[in-house]
Amino acid sequence: MIYERKSSLNRVIQIKVEMKELEAQLEQLKKELNILRESCTHEFEKKDYVQKCMKCHLIESLQW
Ligand SMILES: [Zn+2]
Repeated sequence: MIYERKSSLNRVIQIKVEMKELEAQLEQLKKELNILRESCTHEFEKKDYVQKCMKCHLIESLQW
């Protein structure tokens, strides 16, 4: 019983550490994506109320 509780606590700590690492990785990837989008010469494909760039997958709303 005591062991189980300790084990799940360790897992919680492990999950939190992993989440922090993934969050940092996500931030890094978002930055990288933004850099790519800034240098993209967009080629939009229109769909209903949005248009999506076929190259960088940027989505823009066409609604005003
Ligand atoms: Zn683009």
